[in-house]
Amino acid sequence: MELTRLRGFQDLLGASARAVAHVEELARAVARRYALDEIRIPMLERLELFEHSSGETSDIVQKQMYLVRRHEDSDPERGEMALRPEGTPGVVRAYIEAGLDKSDPEQRFFYLGPMLRYERPQKGRYRQFTQFGVELLGRADAAADAELMFMIDDLRRDLGLDLTFEINSLGDARCRPAYREALLEWGRAHLAELCEDCHQRIDRNPLRLLDCKVDARLAESAPKSSDFLCDECRRHFDQVRALLADAKVPFRVNARLVRGLDYYTRTAFEVTSTAVGSQNAVAAGGRYDGLVAALGGAAVAGTGFAIGIERIALALDATRLAAARADVVLIALGETAMLPAAAIAHELRANALRVEMLSPERGLRALLRRADRLGVRMAAIVGEDEIARGVVQLRDLKTSTQSEVARGDLAASIRAAIK
Ligand code: ATP
Ligand code: MG
Repeated sequence: MELTRLRGFQDLLGASARAVAHVEELARAVARRYALDEIRIPMLERLELFEHSSGETSDIVQKQMYLVRRHEDSDPERGEMALRPEGTPGVVRAYIEAGLDKSDPEQRFFYLGPMLRYERPQKGRYRQFTQFGVELLGRADAAADAELMFMIDDLRRDLGLDLTFEINSLGDARCRPAYREALLEWGRAHLAELCEDCHQRIDRNPLRLLDCKVDARLAESAPKSSDFLCDECRRHFDQVRALLADAKVPFRVNARLVRGLDYYTRTAFEVTSTAVGSQNAVAAGGRYDGLVAALGGAAVAGTGFAIGIERIALALDATRLAAARADVVLIALGETAMLPAAAIAHELRANALRVEMLSPERGLRALLRRADRLGVRMAAIVGEDEIARGVVQLRDLKTSTQSEVARGDLAASIRAAIK
């Protein structure tokens, strides 16, 4: 029996878990600044929810869903359930189920949690990954679309990353049919050059021809959505661009950018990193004015995005990934020093330092080696003699210098050394 993890799934330990948690913390901080409410929705939903929202033609529903079946046939809730591949359908379902579409339609949600998709695993592409997503419901205005990109740009700045924004407008129920028709015509004319998947897509959802990963070059000859926008859609798109330019968010219009899902209208955007390698899409989003009604709710507008947390973490600078979990290790020499050392650790933590107490059962040399391996900068060493005199030996493991510090000055000395 092999008890290893499944292909495409990850165990995150040590520095890689810290990097992901760091991104999550900063994302939560952005959510606070933008006055978003957290929403926590189930991992498991009825399969129909995803079929209705993500569309029966999307890759997610067609090829990537994990279906779950109960063991007993007698289960009254038997039938197909699916592990969520994305957050938006569940959020919108919950919103309708709580009656908010009618009682209080303007809502600002964020979610953070795992998604599951049956993917071809590779670096940056996993079968379970974490998304931070935002959904602004009851907002039809261009400022809502722009605000989403401001959030991502804030996170980019807080993380010190380089990201590129690409935006497009897909039109709405009024002007999109003509664009769809033009794409259909173009697709039919290029049938021989299209991939097998695209032959399936062409009649069901010709917009997705532009999403083809097999031959991206071919799409360059496809009609542009911007040539088909109605006056209202054009005005909305102009406003989004003006808002981004005014806030100095660097973006590029990509007239062939479409989203793989059927419910997107008007604004669509994608955010890529130069650092992640081949899987460089770190976030994607857009407007989905038809979704709430499509899932049985009132006609409420909505716009949102999702960020891939692991991909962002991969883009972070390697030295940050290696950052130590503690600022200082505490080393107690001998059993009598153990109690006072624990008290010193408490004092340092009360001073907001990250403190790790090492197992007191080994010799000083071995403990210092371990501290070094952990990447910790400082070691505070106390033995019987130090306790009696109210001092601590403070060792800087980077410069290999050591000095005696009064216990009351210890926190300040550490802080000065690590800053
Ligand atoms: P891709 O084109 O890379 O497959 P997608 O269009 O399927 O992306 P979305 O469904 O829009 O992606 O999800 C938003 C973000 O979630 C992506 O930009 C990416 O950062 C992240 N993401 C999507 N799928 C995965 C995955 N299998 N592993 C890790 N992150 C992922
Ligand atoms: Mg995908």
